[in-house]
Amino acid sequence: MLNQGIYYYLCSVPNRRKIANSVVRPIFQELLEAYFPVTYPSLLRRHLEGRLSGSFAGDFTDETGQQYDVLVHRLKLKVISGYEFVRDLDDLLTEFMLFQLEYAPGDKSPKFNLLVDECGKNDILRDKEIRKRFNRVHFLRTRGLHRLEKEIPDSEISQIALQFYVFFEYLKDYWEAQEEKTVILQGKRYRRIRYGKESMPKELESTWSEMVTRPCGDCEVIQGELHLEGCDLESCPRCFGQFLGCECKREDDWE
Ligand SMILES: [Zn+2]
Ligand SMILES: [Zn+2]
Repeated sequence: MLNQGIYYYLCSVPNRRKIANSVVRPIFQELLEAYFPVTYPSLLRRHLEGRLSGSFAGDFTDETGQQYDVLVHRLKLKVISGYEFVRDLDDLLTEFMLFQLEYAPGDKSPKFNLLVDECGKNDILRDKEIRKRFNRVHFLRTRGLHRLEKEIPDSEISQIALQFYVFFEYLKDYWEAQEEKTVILQGKRYRRIRYGKESMPKELESTWSEMVTRPCGDCEVIQGELHLEGCDLESCPRCFGQFLGCECKREDDWE
């Protein structure tokens, strides 16, 4: 669509060669660079041909996130319809749950809603709202299959697309935080303090131990987990103050 628009626009101007080079090309370059950290055409081509692994686009580092990113962009570019988006998302969510629950490939998989429940019990999808969203996607998909009601309002499609973007982004940040077990402060390596392991002044101890039975109010991790980057409830392992605001980080400590 963009190409067509630009083609007809260029046809309508007299100095089209100059405009193509000085206006259209820089805009394309800008768009390309906004999406791809690596813009060498030969690398991108090799990636598309499957000869090069790794990610060249988007915010995601894990495979499910990357697959979702591609799916969202196919929707945005209207390569697929809203219903096809829901259908492919439903497949992606099923695969995601089977993988997280450690089903072996080829195992007979339970019904979608049972998988969602199982993920809820196993701390994979602990948020009730998220479980509802999973089931909603599956409902929309199966409704389309059975009654050929494939019209889902665009507003709902964009809402689903955004909600799942946020979901996969949170998952990525969550996994990254759990991997980052230590931090270097003033040249020395410290173990990060897990949620619920903070040392509190005596008078706050009982209130705090009651607090930590609920998920972290800022980043939603549960007791024993590592806070997400930028959480304002994480304690600093060096000075025991608020990690976000303390003075322990020095520039030469960045790994
Ligand atoms: Zn937190
Ligand atoms: Zn500190």
